[in-house]
Amino acid sequence: MDQPTRQRRGLLIVLSSPSGAGKSTIARMLLESDKDVTMSVSATTRPKRPGEVDDLDYHFVDDAGFDAMIDEGDFVEWAPVFGYRYGTPKAPVKDALREGRDILFDIDWQGTQQLEAAMGEDLVSIFILPPSMNELEHRLRSRGTDSDEVIADRMSRAASEISHWPEYEYVLVNRDMDQCVAQVRAIVAAERLKRTRRIGLVTFVRDLIGPAH
Ligand code: 5GP
Repeated sequence: MDQPTRQRRGLLIVLSSPSGAGKSTIARMLLESDKDVTMSVSATTRPKRPGEVDDLDYHFVDDAGFDAMIDEGDFVEWAPVFGYRYGTPKAPVKDALREGRDILFDIDWQGTQQLEAAMGEDLVSIFILPPSMNELEHRLRSRGTDSDEVIADRMSRAASEISHWPEYEYVLVNRDMDQCVAQVRAIVAAERLKRTRRIGLVTFVRDLIGPAH
């Protein structure tokens, strides 16, 4: 493809689900296979889990640090989740959109609503459902990172998170990880081709048929 037809606005791809539905794995597989997508790294006041890396999985900050980021207007959205605060830094989102890159968000329904209000036309929202609540609990336990108490708490909140599914444009049931990733890729491919996002088409078509039409 030549340059003008390639030019397009970047997408904000939101993946939401109750934790344990496979969202992080789907995100990782998409990032590995598509160099035009970068991950938004959120800030959080939640303590680091074993194996998590600061500034890669999250920017781990304390309450005062999070307050300072709010005061500076650093967040495009933020919300309390499971007793901690999570927020999306604004600067990387603006950079990605300006450069026509896509950015992937692993955020909850509260953050999705705020992003929708702030930059809805660039947003593509996808909700991932688990195949069953039993399977969800099994996946949470097999991670081995959370205590029984935390798992019970996450299960009790999962139903209320799932209740927000109608607010999303696309809803997938994660029965099979590879199939789910393929579906996410298909959504991204189609969304990139939308006329409204393909700013390069205007000059391409003008060159094609001339300015009189
Ligand atoms: P976890 O603690 O398991 O990493 O994440 C808990 C929940 O917080 C997940 O549902 C995740 O999508 C959500 N989350 C992570 N980062 C953000 C963020 O920046 N903003 C919002 N609103 N939610 C987030």
